[in-house]
Amino acid sequence: MSPKKDFPVAKRIANLGSETAFVMAAQAAAHAAKGNKVYPFHLGDINLKTPENIIEATHHALQAGHTGYTPNTGIPALREALAKEMNQTRGTAYSAENVAVQPGGKPVIGKFLLALMNPGDEVLYPNPGFPIYESQITFHNGIPVPYGVQVSGNRFTFNIDQLEQAITPKTRLLIVNDLHNPTGAECSPEERQRIAELAIRHNLLVLLDEAYFDIRYDGTSASLVSEAGMAERSVILYTFSKRFAMTGWRLGAAIGPKHIINIFATLNVNDESCTSHCTQYAGLEALTGDQQGAQDILACLEKRRNLATELLNTMEGVHCVRPNTTFYLYPEVTEAMANKGYTDYGEFLAAILQQTGVSMCARSHFGTPAPTEQRKYLRLAYSGIDIEMIEEGLEKLKIFLGS
Ligand code: PLP
Repeated sequence: MSPKKDFPVAKRIANLGSETAFVMAAQAAAHAAKGNKVYPFHLGDINLKTPENIIEATHHALQAGHTGYTPNTGIPALREALAKEMNQTRGTAYSAENVAVQPGGKPVIGKFLLALMNPGDEVLYPNPGFPIYESQITFHNGIPVPYGVQVSGNRFTFNIDQLEQAITPKTRLLIVNDLHNPTGAECSPEERQRIAELAIRHNLLVLLDEAYFDIRYDGTSASLVSEAGMAERSVILYTFSKRFAMTGWRLGAAIGPKHIINIFATLNVNDESCTSHCTQYAGLEALTGDQQGAQDILACLEKRRNLATELLNTMEGVHCVRPNTTFYLYPEVTEAMANKGYTDYGEFLAAILQQTGVSMCARSHFGTPAPTEQRKYLRLAYSGIDIEMIEEGLEKLKIFLGS
């Protein structure tokens, strides 16, 4: 909705971006409202239920009267559990004082910038990438400097040469989303070391967006924070959203050096006061209770990933890498688009939605493509669509692309 003509909206609002996947959601909803069947591959929401033990713990918390404000950085037991979780999985030496509980992972992005970026500072961020990075950097008067992602063999990885070349004396912050939305890119151990060396050499403070750290089908996730010298300069974005299917609960945390976490505490005071009290007990149960629910979620997502990748790779002009992590696929469709006579993503997606009901995002929803980018990509999330619907929807897409 555009503001009224004479309504005095703050100038900074013009700098605020959006999560354009929600635009696709609106188009899909409009298509469905006309009585059409929609296959929802557009939004990274999860259509699986939060594990029962977590729901029960929340009921108990409410009945036990945990309904007032909590300390601004969260209840001590959850902060301790998060510190322990980090230390066990990332080899760090955090304590509760290194943790500020947040209403979701997303608020960590804006607060990291508010705490550490001055106007005019340059911030390196992945593009393609989560669109909120660029939106928040611009909103707070920083200068967003993108670095890309590339295909290397049969995987996506970050373009660290480009990252290095983009560093200037004005670069102050670096955002890394190792286990990456939208491509599933992840660093090899050597690549992590190289990024750490760059961050230390150029004295960069680093946001480690590890939203997908636990959405992994094979092997073990590793974090940049484990590299020597990185814990001192990094803030981890942790979220309960993905691992425990808790997107709508809004629970996450910022984890990092005490002096930075203290700033997060002050920002919390000025903003939400605290994260919902009973939800914090849900998080405590999620981390310390029975893990069967989280394992079942992962097993279900893995089946979806396998089927969707396999089907995409049978389509004319489509090539899809099968990432080990996240719940996204990022198939290359350069040839498929050319075959169908499309150059514009919007028109291509609209035609697919109209003719097949399949709703997806494209590369253009994850930052402005660089002028040098020739290849075309779509992004499919399989977290919000059941296996039968994946099969049916992608069968229709295959027919559309082959016709
Ligand atoms: N970071 C990345 C890369 C994401 O994809 C998302 C959600 O899609 C988030 C952070 C934020 O998730 P939440 O606010 O639900 O924790």
